[in-house]
Amino acid sequence: MSVFHSTMSRRSFMKTLGLAGVGAAALTAPVFHDLDEMTASGDMANPKKPWWIKERDLENPTVEIDWTLVKRFDSTKSTQSNNALYDPNWAQALIDQKAAKKKWITENQPGYTLKDFAFRNNVGLPIGALNPWVLTGTQIPADTPASLGVPKYTGTPEENARMLRTALRTFGAYQIGYVPQTANTNKLAYSNGVIIEDTQTAYINAASKNVMPSGGLTHIPIMYPEMLTAYYAAPSPLIRGIHEQGNRGNGQVRSSGQRFLVAIGYQGVNGSIGPMPPFMALGGESEQGRIGGQSISPTYGMTQTQNLLSTDLPLAPTHPIDAGIWKFCWTCANCSKVCPSSSNSTEHEPTWDPPATLNVRSLTDPNIIYSIPGKKVFWNNMATCKTYQDMVWGCNICMGNCVFSHLETAAVHLAVKATLGTTPVFNTFFKDMDQVMGYGLQQFSAGVGPPTGTFNPKGVDWWKTETPPHGEDGRSRELHAQ
Ligand code: SF4
Ligand code: SF4
Repeated sequence: MSVFHSTMSRRSFMKTLGLAGVGAAALTAPVFHDLDEMTASGDMANPKKPWWIKERDLENPTVEIDWTLVKRFDSTKSTQSNNALYDPNWAQALIDQKAAKKKWITENQPGYTLKDFAFRNNVGLPIGALNPWVLTGTQIPADTPASLGVPKYTGTPEENARMLRTALRTFGAYQIGYVPQTANTNKLAYSNGVIIEDTQTAYINAASKNVMPSGGLTHIPIMYPEMLTAYYAAPSPLIRGIHEQGNRGNGQVRSSGQRFLVAIGYQGVNGSIGPMPPFMALGGESEQGRIGGQSISPTYGMTQTQNLLSTDLPLAPTHPIDAGIWKFCWTCANCSKVCPSSSNSTEHEPTWDPPATLNVRSLTDPNIIYSIPGKKVFWNNMATCKTYQDMVWGCNICMGNCVFSHLETAAVHLAVKATLGTTPVFNTFFKDMDQVMGYGLQQFSAGVGPPTGTFNPKGVDWWKTETPPHGEDGRSRELHAQ
């Protein structure tokens, strides 16, 4: 009898591991005929989430989306790219920002010393590092099916999903989703960022524009976490540095992933085609929360860097999740209490339309708005947020304060997360407990921050900690980390 090929039921396999008796239903069919087959099974292809995280239908995340209203958005019209369109105080803010930098460095303010700015500006990818849309010329790996004269790799979508997860996780990805490209997901592609054509293969055109096929790809949102304990030092330029650290890790994963895909005979298309929070929600890595610019992972909270790899390798899709996060945000609003610029909504019901008091339209052209329509969300003032973010050279107090951005030792630990995913009846209690226990950054509130003389002493403490390599702060080892 072959040592490597035997008929083994799940019961006998678990019995071999000493785990029989953990539940009759879990130990019955399917029957695996060998270990290759087991590795390729649907269970292993996209590992099951913990029991309290429910899977939803494809393209149906917890935030309601009216796909008929979603339109491709020009990212040059966002507050991040062009805040002068929306904030009449923007020009003055840029002047104030420069003056504040020199003043705070000279005064040695916590989180605003010369070393904080040096960290911020130098943590990213080295100068000249490339993350091209597609590989061309000498960027293509020497060994490919074509150069070797061998057939390209083939497998079932489930086998491929497992294989690529193994590669990407080993390259450093913390969370991975597989989102099929459809007419709906194409609406999420920035109108100025990528050209969608009736072509089989992504390429860079003569005008140096990125071109993507209109179908046939799977988008792979890749998440790399940002060091949570550094976020507790917010606001500070440190936070921007930590974000760049996340970008560096994410860029390395995508670079290796892109070359790996090409080396097995498939397209590796590298780079975000649109806003990442929707892709993270569609892939089931996160849920959208109260803060529009970032989604919330059950394991990693909000402190994460997200980017995209796409491929024509057939992949079994991952589904959107319901871990109770979006519904928790309706009750919570703790992030709004700590926002120095009062930019976050304090409402307790999301709406399809922004409130009349919130001007989401450009000052010069009312047809231009700073967000994509077709979603029922909490509408935040992205313009005043952007101004404040830049004024203090890196804010994100709200993200560091988010109830889900705590380590398992904090209020929202594993048992609480399991309760949130099961019933919303304790949501008020849990969000109150988070405040009572003093978690997060509760010293900040409307009008209270560096411009009015309140700095975070943890900006000094952070430099005295023995930080883990790559800022990996342990959440990847939590039971439900995936
Ligand atoms: S980043 Fe800062 S200014 Fe912007 S919403 Fe969060 S706390 Fe407010
Ligand atoms: S602090 Fe509360 S309301 Fe804000 S994003 Fe986190 S969970 Fe949602």
